[in-house]
Formats: sequence, C-alpha cells, structure tokens
Amino acid sequence: MISVEEALGLILENIREIGFEKVDIKEALGRVIAEDIYARRNIPPWDNSAMDGYAVRVNDVEGASKENPAVLKIIESLPAGYISESKLKPGEAIKIMTGAPMPNGADAVVMAEYTEKDGDKVRIFKRPEKSDHIRKAGEDVKEGQLVIKKGQLIRPSEIGMLASMARSIVSVYQRPRVAILATGDELVDLDEEICGAKIINSNTYAVGAQIQECGALPILLGIARDRQDELEERLRLGMNADIIITSGGVSVGDYDHVKDVVKGLGGDLRLWKVAIKPGKPLAFSMLNSRPMFGLPGNPVASMVTFEIFVRPAILKMMGHKKIFRPIIDATIKDDLKKKENRRHFIRASVQSDGDGYAVETTGDQGSHMMTSMTKANGLIIFHENDTSIKAGDKVKVMLLDRSFEYRKDAGY
Ligand code: AMP
Ligand code: MG
Repeated sequence: MISVEEALGLILENIREIGFEKVDIKEALGRVIAEDIYARRNIPPWDNSAMDGYAVRVNDVEGASKENPAVLKIIESLPAGYISESKLKPGEAIKIMTGAPMPNGADAVVMAEYTEKDGDKVRIFKRPEKSDHIRKAGEDVKEGQLVIKKGQLIRPSEIGMLASMARSIVSVYQRPRVAILATGDELVDLDEEICGAKIINSNTYAVGAQIQECGALPILLGIARDRQDELEERLRLGMNADIIITSGGVSVGDYDHVKDVVKGLGGDLRLWKVAIKPGKPLAFSMLNSRPMFGLPGNPVASMVTFEIFVRPAILKMMGHKKIFRPIIDATIKDDLKKKENRRHFIRASVQSDGDGYAVETTGDQGSHMMTSMTKANGLIIFHENDTSIKAGDKVKVMLLDRSFEYRKDAGY
C-alpha cells in the first residue's frame, strides 16, 4: 500500500493541461485564464478628481481656514465624463465631480464638505496640499504592465480588470469532460423502481456534483452491472472523455471487475490501494492515454477519494495553480483513537472560535454513512503514525468549504 503523498504524486505526474477556448467575459467567472493580460491603457487614463468638490490652485488658498476662508470665482461645473476647456487663472475654481478629468491649471481638489457656495463664488475653509484628492494617470495600471497572469482563477475582480482593458473575449482553459460510471448489480437509477435488494445509485450524482464543483463537465454513463462484458461496453462510451471515473467494483470481492476490464481495454494500472481511510481500494490507471480513477463504491469513500486525489487532478488539468483545499489548525473537541497504519480523513464540523478554529466530528465514520458527510465542512487529518488524539489537541483540518456561520465575534 502506498501513502497518500505517493499516490497523489504519481497521479499528478500523469496529468497534462487541457487546451484553450475563447469565452465572453460574461461567461468567464470561475474559469482559468489561459493568456497573460497586458494593460492596453493607463488606469486612470488621466489625472482626475477623487472627490466631489472644487478644483483649485493651491497658491490661491494658502492659509484658508474656517475663520478666514479664501474666496474664489466659480467659472464652471465639471461632471464626470467631460473635459474642461478652461485653464484655471488666479482666483478661479472649477466645481468638479468625482471622476472628472482635472482641469488645466488646477493642482488640488478641496472636498465639498470644506466649502460653501455663494452665487458664483465659493468660500474655501481648508488649505489643501498640492495633489490632494487627485487620482494620478496610471497610478493603478500602467500601459504595458502585466495585470493578470496565465493560470489565474477568474473571479469578479479579474472580470472587472478585463472589462477595464476593453477585453470582452478572453482565452481560458477548456472544461475537462469527466465521465462517471457507477458499477453494481444492486444499483438502480432514479427513474427505476426500487425493490428487493436494490439501492439507489447515489454516487453518480454526488461525484457528478463534485466534478461540477471543480468547474468540469460530468458525463453520466449510468450504471454497469457487475459483468465484464457490460462493464467493458459502458466504459468504452467514456473512453474519449478527458478523465474517466468509475465507482465501485475495485475492491477484492468476487464481482469487482473494474481493474481487469481496464486492463482488457489496454489500460495500464498505475496504482491500487492507498493507505487511507475511507477509500483504501482506490485504483488509478491510464486508459486510452486518459487518467482513469477507480473510486471505491461506498458513498463516502468515493467522495473522500475524489476530494483527495481527483479534484487536484482535475484542477491541474484545468490550468489552476492553486489545486489544494486549505488546511487549517483547529482545536478538537473529541477524543479519537485508531489502530490501522492508514491516514484517516474524519468528517468534521469546523467553526471559527476566538482567534482560531474549533472542530468536532460529525458522527459515525463508516464509509457508507452519508449523514456525517452532509454535516461536515471539513476533514480532520489523522496521520498514519498517530493512534490517539485527545480533546483539546490541535489538529489539521482540510476545509471542504470556507464559509462559517454568523457570529458576533467573527472578527470582521
Ligand atoms: P463496492 O466497492 O462495489 O464493493 O461497493 C461498496 C459498497 O458501496 C456497497 O455497499 C455498494 O452497494 C455501495 N455502492 C457501490 N456503488 C454505489 C453507488 N453508485 N451508489 C451508492 N452506493 C454504492
Ligand atoms: Mg460493487
């Protein structure tokens, strides 16, 4: 049995980046940018006012104060979106709005709050420093500067930056198509009758959702019965996907045919069995030059092995640079014990707590127990070399999502 690190290393070595496509920036949220973006223009394009107020010459308002205001003549009112044609002469001011280009001759803006208008005159109650409330041309972005690096996740802020660079179309990594095939004679699908010893195929939907959460495209191949010919036939349907996933049928049971079928199709089994719980029977092959994961059938085992091994692989294929979930230190509320020399990933609920985090397990950890998974927002990492964790210990927790419930002391 190999360790989690060895397995992950071996898997990631075999993952190549996918191709690119062009998308409208309105569709680009959550994608990974596949080009370096260089600024085509300065932002701001010209010096402009950061405030509503008056554009003045600092020399004209030396010594201005509440008791002794400077009085200037208003020669114009300048909204954002217009360029003033005037040049400020001694004793003159231009009423100016936030974002309007600085008029010629003005070297500061006085906030409206420190002024009082009186007909075509304005009283200035405060002496500004030179350049006060002026946003300088290019102070945010200089023409030619690298503003977004290839491999960056496109978030709302990247979309804003692309828009301000007048880029309506952007090159992004394609979404990998990930085929998912459930296996098992006991399975029926959602549109079938449940009777006798049958159970519903839930893995297709849970793993399909995990694929979607990565930003990839699930291709649902349905259920294959535990017969070599049927497995082979179904698996062939997915062999042109970018990644192939099966669930179930990779353990040591009499009807666990996945590994043999993959070999029969020319696949090359690179690993089988990892020192992890849940999810020991994980298999990884290259099939038709595509990465192929044989996930264990137990619902939580398939989800956890997806999290640990498949998700980073999909994200790497999609060009992501940050392919791992965050791991935090938290203070545990329960005692934990184990014997096996495997790394356990324990379903748990994490909360912010004072300066750090508190974590507690979410119930029975059987690899078929979905309830403890639905309550969890993290997985406690119980290392293979450890056998006991005591309440109050600091533990490592991999976060599955990053939101916490509202609390007054959340520290905003
Ligand atoms: P296996 O890995 O095929 O031995 O399956 C292990 C356990 O997971 C068995 O109890 C199966 O019934 C269950 N199982 C396998 N596939 C699925 C599935 N697609 N949905 C829900 N349970 C499953
Ligand atoms: Mg099975």
